[in-house]
Amino acid sequence: MEDAESRLAQVQQRISLACERVGRDPAEITLQAVSKFHPAASVSELHQLGIRCFGESRVQEARMKIPQCPGGIEWHLVGHLQSNKCKDAVSLFKMIESVDRMDIAQEIQRHADSRGKSMPVLLEVNVAGESSKFGWSPEALLRDFLEVNSLDRLEIYGLMTIAPYTAQPERARPWFAKLRELRDACADLLSAPLPVLSMGMSGDLEVAVEEGATIVRVGTALFGPRQRTSKMRSDATDDREG
Ligand SMILES: *Cc1c(COP(=O)(O)O)cnc(C)c1O
Repeated sequence: MEDAESRLAQVQQRISLACERVGRDPAEITLQAVSKFHPAASVSELHQLGIRCFGESRVQEARMKIPQCPGGIEWHLVGHLQSNKCKDAVSLFKMIESVDRMDIAQEIQRHADSRGKSMPVLLEVNVAGESSKFGWSPEALLRDFLEVNSLDRLEIYGLMTIAPYTAQPERARPWFAKLRELRDACADLLSAPLPVLSMGMSGDLEVAVEEGATIVRVGTALFGPRQRTSKMRSDATDDREG
């Protein structure tokens, strides 16, 4: 049975080797531990090993888990957000990476405004146009980007995507490259940099790092397999295994 420490060492090694291949500094990349369906004790274990950024895909699960976890963790929401969970999401998370449509962007604006705070966000792009996934199509993103940016309580740091599942990670490369190109196009529209690219999971993180990821979201390779109940399966983003 592998322990958390050796799993973490392996993931860090994979990131370093990918960085070496393209001449990047591993310090540019945040390793986010996606802890959905894993208990607070597993979060604490990785926290003790130095991980500070964690991702959750469901607001309800995060609301239960976060109070049981060590303080000083940066929590990111990475799953589809329903408008009735928006208020909680704005208070629980440091960043919402899964802003996937205009009306949820407006709802986040409303709740952040009533709390008098700004909300760091990423815009989620459905790069391959998969019907099973949420997010802007590349065309819609370019059309809507400045309108989202005009919501003054949203701080857009960059883009996020979940690449189509493939057993051959190399096949994800064009999608990651596509997200990087879109990020560059949005930065041009803004005339300001958009520093964050959240892409790459357990199965394809090397390719994502090679294509410019600044956050990799890793669940299975850090925690082991998730225990899923049928209810949990309703989370569409969970159909990918690392
Ligand atoms: C579950 C999940 C991950 C992590 O997936 P693994 O394949 O277990 O590493 C990353 N991103 C999102 C949005 C997820 O829902």
